[in-house]
Amino acid sequence: MREPGPRELFFVPLGGSGEIGMNLNLYGHDGRWLMIDCGITFEQEDGVTHVLMPNVRFAHKRRKQLEALVITHAHEDHLGAVVHLWDQLQCPVYATPFAAAVLRRKIGEADIEGDLDLRIIDCSTSLELGPFTLEFVDVTHSTVESQAILVGTPVGTVLHTGDFKLDPDPLVGPATDLAALGKAADRNIVAAISDSTNATKDVSSRSEAELRDALVQRLERVKTGRIAVACFSSNIARIDTFIRMAAHLERHPVLLGRSLRRMVGCARETEYLSESETEIEVRDFGYLPPSKLMLICTGTQGEPGSAMDRISRDDHRDISFERGDLVLFSSKIIPGNEDGVQRLHSQLRSRSVEVVSEKEEFVHVSGHPGRPELRRVYQLAQPASIVPVHGEERHMTAHAELATEMGLPSVVPFNGAVVQLVPGPPKIIDKVEHGRTRVPGRESGRRPPSGKKRRRS
Ligand SMILES: [Zn+2]
Ligand SMILES: [Zn+2]
Repeated sequence: MREPGPRELFFVPLGGSGEIGMNLNLYGHDGRWLMIDCGITFEQEDGVTHVLMPNVRFAHKRRKQLEALVITHAHEDHLGAVVHLWDQLQCPVYATPFAAAVLRRKIGEADIEGDLDLRIIDCSTSLELGPFTLEFVDVTHSTVESQAILVGTPVGTVLHTGDFKLDPDPLVGPATDLAALGKAADRNIVAAISDSTNATKDVSSRSEAELRDALVQRLERVKTGRIAVACFSSNIARIDTFIRMAAHLERHPVLLGRSLRRMVGCARETEYLSESETEIEVRDFGYLPPSKLMLICTGTQGEPGSAMDRISRDDHRDISFERGDLVLFSSKIIPGNEDGVQRLHSQLRSRSVEVVSEKEEFVHVSGHPGRPELRRVYQLAQPASIVPVHGEERHMTAHAELATEMGLPSVVPFNGAVVQLVPGPPKIIDKVEHGRTRVPGRESGRRPPSGKKRRRS
């Protein structure tokens, strides 16, 4: 493919377009490149979970022209592949303090050649990277410090939204900076490259604060039994809710699961969570009656070997659940995982444990924007066009239809597409090498009983 010239701006997704997961986006201008996010995804095959990452040969061949890799937020689908792919990229990696804390722990666990050049973003000022000038806009999402990025070039600016939602009361961290998005309209925003996850939904995501009230009321109803709550380990506001709720209910919080303790460690290091005075270690809670316990766990998707998986099979060294106990899943069921989640819930119910999930009650809010939120952002920032990303084809197509409703041109990209943003309107002009590769040694999960196969996600 030909390289972008001085009057051109290209967008090339190598992951995350046509799928939810494995986000990797490139911007090209005047022969120079900028990468935003570098994530992993998971694939189930014959009961084994494989960890996959994008093929980055396209970027590797241009590593001398690659200014930097910038991370929008600390989710695995945005930064999980950094430690595995950095060898091939060898560029500075920019992340906010929280995402950097998460990356540093991953670097500590990984075997990488050379020192990963990790730099902290100062979101209060712009960042010059060759011909690209980046400005950061705080957005609310299901983890802290998520950023939208205004990627400026001499031929126009792109609003790269990252994952976001509009929540006036996110509980931990700032609300989406609507004033900054409004101010961005003064610039020449040639395109919004934007989150499609909930573009099929006609309603806004609900607020984390509204959810906290509902969860308090729900858990107050449990009088004598144990309470276990499961959520994603990176959802710091939700974990904060549960730790506060434990204090309110005069229960001791117990953090179960390595990934949860790692994330809580990062959040305490960056002062998003404070230490809990009543938290206890799992080995100590045999001394306490069930009514004094609140377990906070990982394993919402029925991941084999997770704390929740072992509890459900009564295979946990320290914990046994019984009639009168409640397990609350404060998370969404990821498409493709339905069978595993169903099995997990059935196992718990077979032991007379009460199970509550988003299927039955209001116990979770999404971190992604519904159509009203997308509209609001476009009305504020006034992009000249929309390029939906971060979604399966049906999500991106719905997002493109919303653009049409708003009178904006759009193009639905695919992994490997070369989208010419400037001169506009955006169009696909070429495609480049892309694909998925397995992360070596990163498999998890056991095979199901003989003959039983789980479908691919
Ligand atoms: Zn995210
Ligand atoms: Zn994401």
